Amino acid sequence: MDPISKRALITTGLAAGLAAGVAPLAARAQDRKLGYAILGLGYYATQIIMPRFAECEHSKLVALVSGTPEKLTKFGEQYGIPESHRYSYETFDKIASNPDVDIVYIVTPNSLHRTFTERAAKAGKHVMCEKPMASTVADCEAMIAACKTAGRKLMIGYRSRFQAHNIEAIKLIRDGAIGPVRTVVADHGFTIGDPTQWRLKRALSGGGSLMDIGIYSLNAARYLTGEEPVAVNAMTSTDRSNPRFKEVEDIISFQLLFPSGATANCNSAYTANFNRYSVNGPKGWIALDPATPYQGQSMRVSLNGQTGPREPAPQRTNQFSAQLDHLSECILTGREPIVSGEEGLKDLRLIEAIYRAAREGRTVKL
Ligand code: NAD
Repeated sequence: MDPISKRALITTGLAAGLAAGVAPLAARAQDRKLGYAILGLGYYATQIIMPRFAECEHSKLVALVSGTPEKLTKFGEQYGIPESHRYSYETFDKIASNPDVDIVYIVTPNSLHRTFTERAAKAGKHVMCEKPMASTVADCEAMIAACKTAGRKLMIGYRSRFQAHNIEAIKLIRDGAIGPVRTVVADHGFTIGDPTQWRLKRALSGGGSLMDIGIYSLNAARYLTGEEPVAVNAMTSTDRSNPRFKEVEDIISFQLLFPSGATANCNSAYTANFNRYSVNGPKGWIALDPATPYQGQSMRVSLNGQTGPREPAPQRTNQFSAQLDHLSECILTGREPIVSGEEGLKDLRLIEAIYRAAREGRTVKL
């Protein structure tokens, strides 16, 4: 039996069991861990994501894909991945015949996300792809189409949606704790170093701070309000004589207008360090500072006239393991990820509109 049929049988079997009331799906699925291949063994993949499989309930690391043979050896040995499950970019398509791999997680520079997603889908694998989903709207659309044609799921690595403080903020807002959201203020930036890195090369990054870090403010403004913007404004400030900024923007400040009348004011920068947002309504406010780092989120609220720190409801695990397990659970239960390809596409549409607004010096209606 080919691996796709085998997986289909497992998934169908689980669904049939649920329909027949044989056993709760969650109870049966919990024994099964889906296999991930990590593609692109850079900083985020090796230092942040790969160690987090240890805390996963439904996901395990089973294969590696890299253009650097030394990394395949080093991390292969570290994680006990046999040579048969180590691929170069040239041999990657052979992953189609490896039944242990269910999901390919793409952690390369942004402009390469499309081609690797298309190849993974063609190989019959589900795809987890890092943010930003791609460097253009056209690439995002092609990625969605490739996964749809292959009948495979596509999820974007928006880890904050699985992080306790961010989940708590969304819940408080949806429960009406601050009343209708009127304004979001969000700032994300860091001081970028080495001028030769791919983030500063337009062909690989697709853009500057907005693509890389400002996208956290953009995505947060959407998940906090629960709305899609109808208009955007933007302004950039970049010292083109600085060797880091020959090709991409440094500061970009943008505004979003939502259908309810709420607005978001956001700053994105490669020459300033901040990571925070506040959400404000007639009855109170919620502020996270920092809001979306790897760890150490901190929350303050002003609710019912009381202002002070707030601890979110405890979670079983960290945001990274929860993100990895979410896609596995969606595959096992036939659900769509809460951060699907369509979610990534929405952000890219807005990013293109923000760049247009800055370039043309006008409000862009959506
Ligand atoms: P990195 O530079 O550390 O790693 C990139 C990897 O891609 C390297 O292993 C590199 O060898 C490989 N690569 C393949 N082809 C390449 C090429 N043509 N040029 C350069 N490198 C090439 O970068 P990173 O920080 O790990 O970022 C990778 C992706 O992960 C990006 O899309 C980034 O936006 C995303 N990311 C997400 C988070 C998050 O918190 N969700 C954090 C960091 C990075």
